[in-house]
Amino acid sequence: MRTFYSCEVIMQEPRVIDYQTWETELHGHDFQNVPKIAETCALVFMKELISEPEDILVTEILGGKILDFELNVEQKMIVETASEIAQDFGPEYWREKDKKHEFPEDFWKVLVENGFSGIVIPEKYGGSEMGMFEMILAMEALASEGCGLAGTWFLCLTSVFGSLSIVKHGNDSQKEEYLPRISKGMEFCLGLTEPDAGTNTLATKTTAVPKGGEYVINGEKIFISGADRAEGMILITRTTPSEKAPKRTLGLSLFLVDLPNPAIEVVPIEKHGINYSKTCEVFISDLRIPEEKMLGERDKGWYLILDTLNPERMSFSAASVGIGLLAIKKAVEYAKERKVFRNPIGSHQAIQFPLADAKAKIEAARLLNYRAAWLYDKGQPCGAEANMAKVAAVEAGFQAVYHAMQTFGGYGYALEYDVERWWREINLIRLAPITHQMALAFVGEHVLGLPKSY
Ligand SMILES: Cc1cc2nc3c(=O)[nH]c(=O)nc-3n(C[C@H](O)[C@H](O)[C@H](O)COP(=O)(O)OP(=O)(O)OC[C@H]3O[C@@H](n4cnc5c(N)ncnc54)[C@H](O)[C@@H]3O)c2cc1C
Repeated sequence: MRTFYSCEVIMQEPRVIDYQTWETELHGHDFQNVPKIAETCALVFMKELISEPEDILVTEILGGKILDFELNVEQKMIVETASEIAQDFGPEYWREKDKKHEFPEDFWKVLVENGFSGIVIPEKYGGSEMGMFEMILAMEALASEGCGLAGTWFLCLTSVFGSLSIVKHGNDSQKEEYLPRISKGMEFCLGLTEPDAGTNTLATKTTAVPKGGEYVINGEKIFISGADRAEGMILITRTTPSEKAPKRTLGLSLFLVDLPNPAIEVVPIEKHGINYSKTCEVFISDLRIPEEKMLGERDKGWYLILDTLNPERMSFSAASVGIGLLAIKKAVEYAKERKVFRNPIGSHQAIQFPLADAKAKIEAARLLNYRAAWLYDKGQPCGAEANMAKVAAVEAGFQAVYHAMQTFGGYGYALEYDVERWWREINLIRLAPITHQMALAFVGEHVLGLPKSY
């Protein structure tokens, strides 16, 4: 993020200036190219002087009055490394893994070796101590450079469900126990959805009953991705019956559960796509968990899990962006070559315009998702942006893959061209992690202020 402004003021030390100082010392000097809007900012951080004393590097203006879209050195490195990995594990690799229903052991190993499982984990636990923004960059680059949904999937299961939940709400001993292991590749999953509750998490029936320093847990979860391999699960349970809870959003609690466990049966569900990873039913019978495995405060699980669900939405928006860009890239390559009449098919507006339209919408959704991640990393409310980005990204990605398939004609239906796989993948993102309808309901209610629809 670098914006250079030349000015006559020579500042010896980087310092924080307030509006008053801005007015008296800086305003009115010969700033070149300083947008008018900057004059209204409340605080300017002058973090660094650059080589020429007349030049001031303005790195950040609180209130977001000046935007700078350039990535810093570390962020560029993340994108470069992720892109290189994706080129080694491109569409052919995923075609095979999907066809054989095989977990991508070597891909996961490379992600871990390159520090991607530890992106958000503090350095003292072996991670890189970055934020959701960097996670999104990694996911987008992996997805768009060749991995499709797989570029997001495995990081979401382990680094969002596992790491972020523990970083945000774990106590010191939980952090010490799990975070170094996750940095080294321990896999995680999230046990949230239930057969009867579905989208309505507050109707969770899996119960955790305290008994002699332990909790006894019984219940059933469905669609739990990665539960067949994970060594850890964030499990959502009911600890206070809804009729006794003082508020409908109270009464749920989270637990850190070690897997495999004899009290937990995991049964894979055959599914439409993403067959390089299993999604499972999970049956829990008299699972005994020590009290110290509770994550965060008892009965506050609904609020705690939002800190994981919003980043999960951002992750799947990044996937939609990445899959959409990948599909457009492949469609464009094909459309330049393929001739059935005199000119390449890409010269026909019926082929060109929908791809151009999808590209424009993807780039817009991408920015909204960046904003959601930026807010999250600053600890600010991000639900509105996370849901709006999800709506926009999946629509744009969906359009991109649909029109990529049209571009390929009959070949789009053949496994060999990969578009059909991305089609199966983008369709999931309309259903999960939040359905398209429920994301819209969130925007209707919480952003537009319309009456709750359910
Ligand atoms: C491949 C896959 C992987 C998954 N991985 C995980 C995982 O790892 N962990 C996990 O916990 N869950 C996971 N899920 C579950 C996923 O998050 C849920 O499937 C999703 O939230 C929808 O729940 P449901 O399927 O029960 O649909 P339902 O809640 O039954 O909804 C059915 C339909 O009704 C609509 N609907 C319901 N209520 C309303 C309303 N009030 N207004 C408007 N429309 C409404 C929904 O939008 C949807 O279209 C996964 C799902 C899939 C398919």
